[in-house]
Amino acid sequence: GNESRAQAVFQVTNSEPLKVKPPKSLDKIWATDVFTLVKMEEALSKKAFKSMKKTVETGGALDPGTADVVAAAMKDWAMSKGAKFYSHIFYPMTGASAEKHDGFILSDASGKAITDFTGSLLIKGEPDGSSFPNGSIRMTNAARGYTAWDPTSPAYIMHTDNGATLMIPCIFISWTGEALDKKVPLLRSNSAMNDAAQKVLKLMGEKEVATLNSSCGAEQEYFLVDSNFANLRPDLLLAGRTLFGAPSAKGQEFDDHYFGAIPQRVQNFMQDTEDQLYRLGIPAKTHHNEVAPGQFEIAPYYEAANVAADHQQLLMTIFKNTAKKHGFDCLFHEKPFAGINGSGKHVNWSVGNSTQGNLLDPGKTPHENLNFLLFCGAVIRGVHKFGPLLRAVIASAGNDHRLGANEAPPAILSVYLGSQIEEIFEQIREGNLDGTDEGGIMDMGLSQIVPFAKDAGDRNRTSPFAFTGNRFEFRAVGSEQSVSGPLIAMNTMLADSLNWIADELETELKSASNNTAAVIAVLKKLVTEHGVAIFGGDGYSSEWHEAAVKERGLKNLPTTADALPYLKDEAIKELFASTGVLSETELASRFEVYAEQYILSIEVEAKLVINMATTSIYPAATRYLSDVSLASSSASELGIDLDKTVATSIAANINGMMASVDKLSEALAKEDHASEEEHMQFCANTIRGLMDEVRGYADALESEVADDLWPLPTYQEMLFIK
Ligand code: ADP
Ligand code: MG
Repeated sequence: GNESRAQAVFQVTNSEPLKVKPPKSLDKIWATDVFTLVKMEEALSKKAFKSMKKTVETGGALDPGTADVVAAAMKDWAMSKGAKFYSHIFYPMTGASAEKHDGFILSDASGKAITDFTGSLLIKGEPDGSSFPNGSIRMTNAARGYTAWDPTSPAYIMHTDNGATLMIPCIFISWTGEALDKKVPLLRSNSAMNDAAQKVLKLMGEKEVATLNSSCGAEQEYFLVDSNFANLRPDLLLAGRTLFGAPSAKGQEFDDHYFGAIPQRVQNFMQDTEDQLYRLGIPAKTHHNEVAPGQFEIAPYYEAANVAADHQQLLMTIFKNTAKKHGFDCLFHEKPFAGINGSGKHVNWSVGNSTQGNLLDPGKTPHENLNFLLFCGAVIRGVHKFGPLLRAVIASAGNDHRLGANEAPPAILSVYLGSQIEEIFEQIREGNLDGTDEGGIMDMGLSQIVPFAKDAGDRNRTSPFAFTGNRFEFRAVGSEQSVSGPLIAMNTMLADSLNWIADELETELKSASNNTAAVIAVLKKLVTEHGVAIFGGDGYSSEWHEAAVKERGLKNLPTTADALPYLKDEAIKELFASTGVLSETELASRFEVYAEQYILSIEVEAKLVINMATTSIYPAATRYLSDVSLASSSASELGIDLDKTVATSIAANINGMMASVDKLSEALAKEDHASEEEHMQFCANTIRGLMDEVRGYADALESEVADDLWPLPTYQEMLFIK
């Protein structure tokens, strides 16, 4: 029999939820582990603080003198919280976070331990660049990489069971200054967006325009699985998803999990994580059950994109670690269980500043609405021109299981505006709003938008990219992905569109009778060219898939293998080069890194499929076949005939499975792929197909083989948390 699985069930049934301390009030714990501006103000001289504050607000460079003072203050603060180590934390292209820890300690000439932390240690670190993926940059340059503090993202303390470490958020660049990470391009995309937005707003007659920043609020979905079960599933441990598993008798069809009562164990886990998030200054706001059993969501309140991106990475780390403490494995994979809803990460995004506010908020006056229409139009143009880029930045082996399948947004990028705003753009396209009729239909049209702002009610759940009242929500992002890629793409396409708008507006303003007329003229041109990206219908329907491609010329890119090559597209190279967000080398290196990651993840999964089929499913199935055969011959000695259907079917499934395993091994051994693109297509079509083939037989066996012989925890066991 299979003792480990039985034991796991026993453990799960008999374990007590881990107790958590009663929650402390928010004002006692909020940001206590963060070296905030407030703490800096207390610790620094007026002059040093002023210089520091300016750096944080404008993203400029920190002068070395201030850096020394800040470093010393930071060290004192960190040591007072029990830290003996510090670490630069950075965000390589893999989408994970990386750390390099060093002690504050030095020993002086007399052998006494002293601590030291200078401005240059704060500002610059040198992890070995070659151990992180750098794509083509590695081939052209030495492997040296540098980390440098990003003062716009505050330093903080990470506590572990036996100590604490000062964490310093950093950029990661090559010695020639090329971005090796996701933070540098995010910062650059913000500033490109700001430059372009400044031009447009000045042309619109705004007297004072503060620096614009993008904001991000990410809704994170995840699964919790009891570790007793997860530990018996090599696929969950190594690939983050189940590569085998017959559907549970009870799936999600009852819809009783969504907003249902949260189990006590999970509640304790959530409270524990939120406590830590608050200490780290991460504004966790909502949590609830999701659609699938065992699935949950956390959504922090939105923050400046750069900080939100760092916080998102930190949140995932905290969730993984804390889940372990509570006896769970936290799964961020986009599709841990076949046939059950997958997990996404909705990236809510807006841009604004302190003088004009949120530019994606329709506002209260026709004038504010003109700004809104321009920024909204800029997004529409971006989605149309750079749809394949938006698809490419959310491409991963995991997310391929959602996009294009009938649950998540489709792999076709379109934009949903809601009926009112869609109608206004339609009127502009048809020339019904021409801006000459002041106080008349024009004014009415713009005023109509105002009440809409507060009504996020009519949402289209099938759209990958939706306007939701005062922001856009990019819904097709995968749950495991960094939010930086999508934010970079959105900021950059917005910068490009705003630059275009600024040029057009400048021309129109010369001849137009008033501002409104000029704006409408620009928008008419924009929506005539790019309006095909606007879609308010059912994104899941087959009619849309057909019409989007055939009539509207949009791209349907179902797999990563189809999407990633667009990073080599001329228009996309031009986009990143002209905005200064990524050089051609930097963009090329990203293609290489992502392609390699995709191929690697599929090949690892394929190897696991072969391994699990051969070493755990085949033995269980043959053992049972032997039991059944033995029973049959014993029975026939008594003159009883046992029906042979079961044995025959098991044998056929065993043979079928092993034949598919052979085919898969053979496919994996193929090495002569002409290009990265071809290799990816081979993974997407041949390898993935063969993996499914093996699984088909294995899952059939799971429903035939005696339960006590089956080695792998079942879907039912893993999904229904007690
Ligand atoms: P829903 O599940 O209905 O989409 P949630 O309240 O769970 O909504 O999440 C919405 C997310 O959008 C939150 O993170 C919220 O802070 C964020 N958000 C709200 N307004 C903005 C904005 N102007 N810009 C960016 N994000 C925003
Ligand atoms: Mg949402």
